[in-house]
Amino acid sequence: MPQKFQNYIDGLWCDSSDMGTFENRNPANWNDLIGTFPLSTSQDVDRAANSAANAFKKWRLLPAPARGEICRKAGEIMLLRKDEIAAIMTREMGKPLAETKGDVQEGIDTAFYCGTEGRRLFGINTPSELPNKMNLSFRVPIGVCGLITPWNFPMAIPTWNIFPGLVAGNTFVFKPAEDTPHTANILVEILIEAGVPQGVLNIVHGAGTTVGAAIVEHPLVQAVSFTGSTKTGKTVAEQCGTRAKHVCLEMGGKNAQIVMPDADMELALHGVLWGAFGTTGQRCTATSRLILHEAIYDSFIDKLKSQVATLKIGDGSIGGNQVGPIINEKQRRNIERYVKIGIDEGANCIIGGSIPKGADLENGWFFEPTIFTDVTPNMTIAQEEIFGPVLSVIKCTSLEEAIEISNGVIYGLSSSIYTRDINAAMVAVRDIEAGITYVNAPTIGAEAHMPFGGVKATGNGHREGGWTVFDFYTEWKSVYIDFSGHLQRAQIDN
Ligand code: NAD
Repeated sequence: MPQKFQNYIDGLWCDSSDMGTFENRNPANWNDLIGTFPLSTSQDVDRAANSAANAFKKWRLLPAPARGEICRKAGEIMLLRKDEIAAIMTREMGKPLAETKGDVQEGIDTAFYCGTEGRRLFGINTPSELPNKMNLSFRVPIGVCGLITPWNFPMAIPTWNIFPGLVAGNTFVFKPAEDTPHTANILVEILIEAGVPQGVLNIVHGAGTTVGAAIVEHPLVQAVSFTGSTKTGKTVAEQCGTRAKHVCLEMGGKNAQIVMPDADMELALHGVLWGAFGTTGQRCTATSRLILHEAIYDSFIDKLKSQVATLKIGDGSIGGNQVGPIINEKQRRNIERYVKIGIDEGANCIIGGSIPKGADLENGWFFEPTIFTDVTPNMTIAQEEIFGPVLSVIKCTSLEEAIEISNGVIYGLSSSIYTRDINAAMVAVRDIEAGITYVNAPTIGAEAHMPFGGVKATGNGHREGGWTVFDFYTEWKSVYIDFSGHLQRAQIDN
């Protein structure tokens, strides 16, 4: 019998209200059934939202340093369980163990960062325009927050939200992606052990269109944080808009690495290998376009092709494998579709492009690391997010043209330039339209204490990570204290 996992609502582990379940399988071996999870209903969401609303009454009154202390403890438990969690994550998500350990470490870093943030959460005081009057402003929690997350960073992304959200005094209804529910349950277990009280954190598993939609629509949910595709994000935004809810959107990317002729070529090569094929290209910040200056175009491609040919594809739990499986069948079909479009539109597939052969690969959703050359900026594979190990190489003749190509997509998450020319680097930092720009480093590698997010169709102006996430998880309260003993009329008596 497969292991049966549950929701956690109002301090109790429980099944879906109609007992429905869905399966969670290993993408490197679909015969490996990890377990079943509740296919929950809107009734379950309703219970979770009510429980979070009740719990908020007390949780908001617990001093922020004490809430931070719970996060710090959670970080310590995660540290002790790091290897175990990484193994669980690799089994359900596929990326190699070194990467899943990194994903857990990001959760630990966020826990420790947010733990101490409970002692800051600074407010701002200003002088009053009237005598004997004091002006203060400080952060207050919002209430019940809905959290909807994708599968590619099953620990990091939930912790980027839950830890700061809890420290700020909010309570949660959390719906993780259907492909990575086990890691999400471990996070809930850890927070329970760390001391999160009944009702403060609720997890409801299930389909996005049922559970996700019910969270967004629920009247007790005051704010929604969504990370996922731009298509779903726009629906979430519309639903939140008509209900006047706060919404934080972290969506797709089409990130480019620029390589100028004066760059350290080895460094740029290692950068694109990691940026494009790490996590099998399934990162929102993955390098999916490589913009090469014409002076180094041919030589760089030759070296890149020979390096990509050495990448070892396979089950991420086996040491030495560098490129794990695609998350599921639907996503692999989508990648195959884009490869066909690339060929049909005239791009040149110089390596990869197929499902790899091999006895150890035949039961998993593997796909070969793929490079297209002769890509023009307007081709579909240079414009749309593929979310797989597919790199489109585009030729440029100048820095200005490289930046124009980099900016010529609807997204604006991450970006990178390799150059030894400080002036070129600074122009790129200034002119690239993206939430993140790396100089002489790949498009991936965000740190927990820095703002994370994108411009244009990637986001809606909010940032996760660092101090900026508290702008989403708090409201400002302005307080005027008049100790003059008589009526003072602002804008009239002064
Ligand atoms: P997705 O949009 O299909 O799903 C994301 C989440 O939304 C899942 O939990 C899903 O169940 C839920 N959902 C689906 N339909 C919904 C609905 N109608 N209402 C509410 N919730 C709904 O995305 P995915 O395939 O899981 O993730 C891949 C995408 O996520 C890529 O586009 C990637 O770029 C993006 N992503 C962005 C960031 C970022 O920070 N910018 C980080 C990671 C992933």
